[in-house]
Amino acid sequence: MKIRKYFGFCNLIMLLVSITLICAATLAFIVIFIMKFPVEELYVTRAALLQPVVLVETMGSFFRGNPLAFGYVLLWAAVCIAILSATTTIMTKRMSQRITRSLYEVVKAAERVQGGDKSFEMIGSDMQEIDELCTGFDDMRRSLLSAQKREEALKHERSMLIANISHDLKTPVTAIKGYIDAINDGLADDPKKLAHYLKVIKSKNNTIENLVNNLSTMSRLELSKLEMDKSVGELNDLLYEAEQEHIIDAELAGLEIVTELADKSIPVNIDYDKMKRVFSNLLENAVKYRKSDSKRIVISSEIKDSCAYAYVIDDGMGICADEMPKIYDSFYRVDDARASQTKGSGLGLGIARQIVQKHGGRLWLTSEGVGRGTTAVVSLPLYGRT
Ligand code: ADP
Repeated sequence: MKIRKYFGFCNLIMLLVSITLICAATLAFIVIFIMKFPVEELYVTRAALLQPVVLVETMGSFFRGNPLAFGYVLLWAAVCIAILSATTTIMTKRMSQRITRSLYEVVKAAERVQGGDKSFEMIGSDMQEIDELCTGFDDMRRSLLSAQKREEALKHERSMLIANISHDLKTPVTAIKGYIDAINDGLADDPKKLAHYLKVIKSKNNTIENLVNNLSTMSRLELSKLEMDKSVGELNDLLYEAEQEHIIDAELAGLEIVTELADKSIPVNIDYDKMKRVFSNLLENAVKYRKSDSKRIVISSEIKDSCAYAYVIDDGMGICADEMPKIYDSFYRVDDARASQTKGSGLGLGIARQIVQKHGGRLWLTSEGVGRGTTAVVSLPLYGRT
């Protein structure tokens, strides 16, 4: 109900109650007058006083002859005023109570929000305007709550990122330091050993470089400052270069990288460095999420349905179907026992996917399930077909 309507309704009730009570009081005064009137003085019977005309005339004569009787009239007026002020006070109190009760709910809710409690539901009011205020306030509370949840999620993501990055950095830095110390201490006493130590140092350095590059790419993506500097290039050459950059990492992990590239040219309009980042991330994952009996990673390419396709196929840990939709989210990691030793920042796939999308292409992973390997697929528009 609208407040104006409610006020109108209350005023009508107040008017009807006052009129009824004043009429009742007046009637009581008349009855008392009839009962008490000294009939002998004006020669009328009490029964005759029941007729309104006789009563009015008799009252007129009586008040003219007894000026002191006006005290009764004043008493009657005082009773009427008392009735009016009592009904007005009671009704006004009721009206204001009903409105302030609803407003108090809003004030209480505002205090709860101020105190940090935003997880409650506001009860509306039967006053339309106040109900609208409650709804507006509740919408505000809900958006504050979701902003707070977003902020908490962001905070969590940031602390996860810092924890993961420090782990990702610590491991290769410690390894590099260990191997350099070993070389300094003369432990690499034959050329084969020295070559191996240097290989490990290079591989660990690649890991650090990849992480730093991913971080700078991510911040540019977040700031929408990642420009694509595209030119026509050969997908097979790019895949070959990516393979060369990861050959040492794979070898140290006991894996062989096999290339099965299409025997015809695959021209694509790409930002060469950014696309190399994509395959770097996919290859790093293929090495990182290997099993103890994993043997090889296959890099292949083909032209299908007028599109360029590149595949990075591994025989590693695989991914279960439930996790599949989430792995592209920034900072998301499949965090179960099998992956617990293989920490990562959770950035690689998200960045790779965004870069591919900026080329008008698609990136997705498929897996037969846990322990059954993973295939990463990148599709790009063929140059000349865009
Ligand atoms: P991370 O830095 O953790 O590797 P990514 O975004 O590259 O982050 O990958 C997200 C998650 O997807 C990883 O935590 C991992 O569990 C899963 N994943 C990605 N690639 C593979 C793969 N080739 N084999 C198995 N799991 C993978």
